[in-house]
Amino acid sequence: MFLLSGTGIGDVAIGRALVLDRDEIEINLRHLTEDEVEQEVIRFRKAVSRARNKLESMRDELPEHAPAELSAFLGAHVLMLEDPLLIDQTIGTIRRDLINAEVALRRQEESLKQVFDTINDDYLRSKKNDIAQVVERVQTELSSNSSQLFALSDELDDRIIVVNDLTPADTVHFRNKHMAGFITNLGGPISHTAILARSLKLPAVVGLHGAGRLIRDNDMLVIDGRTGTVVVAPGERILQQYRQRREHAEKLYAGLKTLREVPAISEDNVRVALLANIELPEDIDSAVKAGADGVGLYRTEFMFMNREAPDEEEQYAAYSDAAVRINGSVTIRTLDLGADKQVDGGRSDAYSTVNPALGLRAVRLCLSNPGLFIPQLRAILRASVHGNIRIMIPMLSSLNELDQVLELVREVKNTLSRECVEFRPDIAIGGMIEVPAAAVAADLFARKLDFLSLGTNDLIQYTLAIDRVDDEVNYLYDPLHPAVLRLIRHTIEAGENQGIPVSMCGEMAGDPGYTQLLLGLGLREFSMDPATLLQVKREVLRTRVTPITDTTRKSLYDSDNNSLRSLVENARTH
Ligand code: PEP
Ligand code: MG
Repeated sequence: MFLLSGTGIGDVAIGRALVLDRDEIEINLRHLTEDEVEQEVIRFRKAVSRARNKLESMRDELPEHAPAELSAFLGAHVLMLEDPLLIDQTIGTIRRDLINAEVALRRQEESLKQVFDTINDDYLRSKKNDIAQVVERVQTELSSNSSQLFALSDELDDRIIVVNDLTPADTVHFRNKHMAGFITNLGGPISHTAILARSLKLPAVVGLHGAGRLIRDNDMLVIDGRTGTVVVAPGERILQQYRQRREHAEKLYAGLKTLREVPAISEDNVRVALLANIELPEDIDSAVKAGADGVGLYRTEFMFMNREAPDEEEQYAAYSDAAVRINGSVTIRTLDLGADKQVDGGRSDAYSTVNPALGLRAVRLCLSNPGLFIPQLRAILRASVHGNIRIMIPMLSSLNELDQVLELVREVKNTLSRECVEFRPDIAIGGMIEVPAAAVAADLFARKLDFLSLGTNDLIQYTLAIDRVDDEVNYLYDPLHPAVLRLIRHTIEAGENQGIPVSMCGEMAGDPGYTQLLLGLGLREFSMDPATLLQVKREVLRTRVTPITDTTRKSLYDSDNNSLRSLVENARTH
C-alpha cells in the first residue's frame, strides 16, 4: 500500500484503476451511431491537420546545413497527408461502415500496402514504409488521452480512470459511463473539469503528477476527495474504514433532505435565495430535487460539446423546458466557449496556440461570431414567454462590449416583432462580474444592467493571475485574498446602490465554508451545484447575519485575515 496526493474533489470513491496513459497505441473497433459520424469525421480531419502542421514546422525548422533530402522527405509526407487516396477514402469508410477513425485509417493503410506489394519496382515498393510512418503520425494524434476516452466502452462501473488530463468535453462524455471517479496528472480545483466532476458527483484527485506512471491498470484504489489523497492497493482494514465513511456521508446527505422545503432564512430573519447551477438539460431534475429557488446559472456551452451545434429550434426547446419545469427564475448564460471549454474537447490547434484564458472567449467570441450568437439570443427570447427567463452575459470587461450586446438584443427583438414571434420585451439582462475591470467599475455596469452575478472562479483567476487549469500555480488560489474579498464587496455595494440584485455563481457560493463570510459581505443570492445546496442552506439557517457583517467588513482592511480563515475552517468541520 502507498499514498499519493494532489487536489481533491468530492468525497470517497473505491474501485480498480483503468490507466489510459499508455505509450503504445491501442486500436479498438468502435461502432458509431448515425449522429456520431460527422463528429468523428471532424475528429479525423483535425488529427490529420495537426499531424501535417507538425511535419511542416519540422521542415521549416530544419537547420541550414541539413541535407536537402530531409526537407524533400518531410515534404513528401506532408503531401501524403493531403492525398485523397488516404484521407478521402478513410472518411468514406467512416461514413459507410459507421466505424471509428482509427480503424477506418488502419483498413485504408492495409489496402494501400497491398497495392504497393504488387509493384515490381523495389524503390516504389519501399514507399510502403512511408505510408506506415505517415499513418502512425495520424494515429498518434488520434490516440491523445481525450480520444482514448471517447473510445471507452460503457462498461466502466466501479472503475477509477487514471489519465493525464481531462477536458470539460471529456467530462461531459462521462455522464452515462458510470465510473467511480478519476485521477489526473494535471488540473486545478476550479477548472471546469473539476466543476463538472462535482456536478457529476464523481470524487476525483487532480494535479497528481506521475499518477499515470505510479498506478498500474487494475490496482485497487481509494480516492479521498476531501484530503486529495489516493490510497493505492489499500489493506482490508483501510478499505473498510473508507466504506464506512462513504455510508456515513450517504446518511448525512439523507438527513439534509429534510431541509428541502425549509425556506433559507437566517437565525436573525434574513431571507436568502439559493439557486442551482446547471450544465445540461438533464440537470434540471437535480435542481428541482434539491429544492432550488431557481437556476442562477445555465452553462449553455455544454450543450455544444462533442456534437454538431444545436440550432435555434433545439435551443428554444431546451430553454423552454427549463422555464416550464423550474419554479422560479432561470438565468441563461449566453455561450461561454473558449479557453478550456472547446466544443471538441480542446483537440483543435486553436487551443494550444494562443493564451486562451485571455483570448477570444465568451462574449468576445459571440460578438465576433453573430452566426453563433443571434440564434441563441432568438431562442432565449422566444423561450421567455414560457417562464421567468433572464439573460446573462459572461466575461464582460468593457462597457462598450456591453453596449454592443444590448444593441444586438434590441435588434433581435425588433426582428422577432416584425416576424410576429412572441417574446417578453422586458426580459431581464444581467452580466457576470468575473473580470477585475468589471468588478472595479461595477457601478457603471450596474447602471446598464438588471442584475449582476459574481463569477468568482474567473474573478480569482484574473485577479490573482493564476490560470485556473494550471496545477503548478494552484497553491496561489485563495478566495480569502483581500483583493478578491474587496472586489466582491465592491460589486455587492454597486448593486445595493443601484437597487439591483447581485448573486454569486462561482464555486465559492457552493462551499458551505464561505456561506457566513459571504452573508457578512452582503450577498443574498447564491447559485451553486445542486449537490451542495442543502449544506449551504444548513449554514444559512444557523447564521446570525448582523454580528458577522461587522467582523467580515472590518477584516477587509486587516493585513492578517486569520479570523476569516478560522471562520471558514470552523464552518467546514461542523
Ligand atoms: C465563474 O467564473 O465563476 C463562473 C461561474 O463561470 P465558469 O466557471 O463557467 O467560468
Ligand atoms: Mg466564468
